[in-house]
Amino acid sequence: MSTSRSATLPVARPSLGQAEEVAVLEVLRSGWVSQGPRVAAFEAAFAEYVGAAHAIAVSSCTTALHLAMLVAGIKPGDEVLCPSLSYIATANGIVYAGGTPVFVDVDRSTYNMDPSRIEAAITPRTRAILAVHQVGLPSALEEICDIANRRGLLVIEDAACAIGAVYKGRRIGQPHTSMACFSFHPRKILTTGEGGMITTADAELAARLRRLRQHAMSVSDLARHASAQVVVESYDEVGYNYRMTDLQAAIGLVQLKRLPEMIDRRRWLASRYTERLSQLEWLIPPVEPAECKQNYQSYMVRLTEDAPVTRDQLMQELLNQGISTRRGIMAIHRESPYRKGEWDARLPETNLAADTTIILPLFHDMTESDQDHVLDCVEQISSPVRR
Ligand SMILES: *Cc1c(COP(=O)(O)O)cnc(C)c1O
Repeated sequence: MSTSRSATLPVARPSLGQAEEVAVLEVLRSGWVSQGPRVAAFEAAFAEYVGAAHAIAVSSCTTALHLAMLVAGIKPGDEVLCPSLSYIATANGIVYAGGTPVFVDVDRSTYNMDPSRIEAAITPRTRAILAVHQVGLPSALEEICDIANRRGLLVIEDAACAIGAVYKGRRIGQPHTSMACFSFHPRKILTTGEGGMITTADAELAARLRRLRQHAMSVSDLARHASAQVVVESYDEVGYNYRMTDLQAAIGLVQLKRLPEMIDRRRWLASRYTERLSQLEWLIPPVEPAECKQNYQSYMVRLTEDAPVTRDQLMQELLNQGISTRRGIMAIHRESPYRKGEWDARLPETNLAADTTIILPLFHDMTESDQDHVLDCVEQISSPVRR
C-alpha cells in the first residue's frame, strides 16, 4: 500500500521533446496540415532507413494490414495463417478484407510463429502467411518464406513492433517478403500519435496502396497541387481514407532521426534487466537468436511453473510498489470474435505464453534508478523473508 515513490512508474512512455514540438509548429504555420509534403518526406526517409524501395504512410498499422491484405488479393473464403499470440489487430486486418485467420502456435522461446507447425495448418484455401515480429523480435522469416515459396503462398509481415529490428543482417522492412506493415502508436518505439507505414519492393503494389489509402483517387493532393495544369481526378474503385497527416509525419521525421539512439538505449536497458533477472530461477528473460537483433519495443519475461507467485500476483505486488506492468501478449483466439474454432487444444504454447508472461517497464527516458527499483522489487519477491 505505501510506497516510497509518489508517482507510478509507467510501463511505457513515448519520448517526445522540443524538436518534435518545433516540427509540429512549423506544419501548423505552413497551412498544410493533412497528407502533403511532410508525409512524402517521411516516406522517403523511412524507405531509406529500412532499405526499401517504397514506403507508403497510412493512419495506423491496422489500416496498413487491411490494405496489405487487399492488394495481396485476399478475398472472402481465403485463409491467412498468423499467430494467435499477437495484438488483435493482426487478425482484424485479415477479417476486414474478408479473409479467415488460421492460427498457428508459437515457439516457446521466441514467442513467434513456429515454422515447424505451418505445413499442418495449410489447406487448399490458404493464400498467405502473416508473420508477426512479436515485441520487436524478428520471426523466422527464412523458414517461413521457404515454406511459402514451396506452397505458393504470399508472405506479409506484421512489423508493428519491429522498426529498426534486424534479421540476417538486414533491417525489417527491406524486402524479406512482399510487404511489411509498421505501427507508430505510442506504445511502439517511434510514435506519431497514431500512424502506420507499409514498405514493399514492388512498384505496382506501392502505387495501388497509395491510391487505396485515399479513396482510390487517381492523382494525389500533392501531385495536383504541384501541377501547372488543371487536373481532374477519377475514382476507379472503392478506396478508403487511411491517410496520415503532415502533423504526424513531421513528428515521425524527428523521431526517425532519433531512432538509432532510442534503440541503443532500449538495448542497453534490456541488457541491464537480463543481467540481473537471469539470476532468478523462476523468471525467463527474452532471447535473441543469433540471426536477429531485436529492438526491445517491450521487455517481456515469463514466469516458470515453480515461480513463488502467479503472474497476476507479480503484477499486483509490483503495482503496490508503484510499478505498473502489463500482461504479456494476448491470445486472439480467446476473444469472442475469434473463439469459434477449436483453437484452445491446438495452441498450447500460445495459451502458456498468454498466461505466464509479463511486460516490465522499459522506455527511453527510464532512469537507471527507476530500473533498479523494479529489479529490487522483483528480486524481493523471490526472497524467503517475504511476508
Ligand atoms: C500495435 C500492434 C498493431 C496495431 O497497430 P496500430 O498502429 O495501433 O493499428 C498490430 N499488430 C501488432 C503485433 C501490434 O503490436
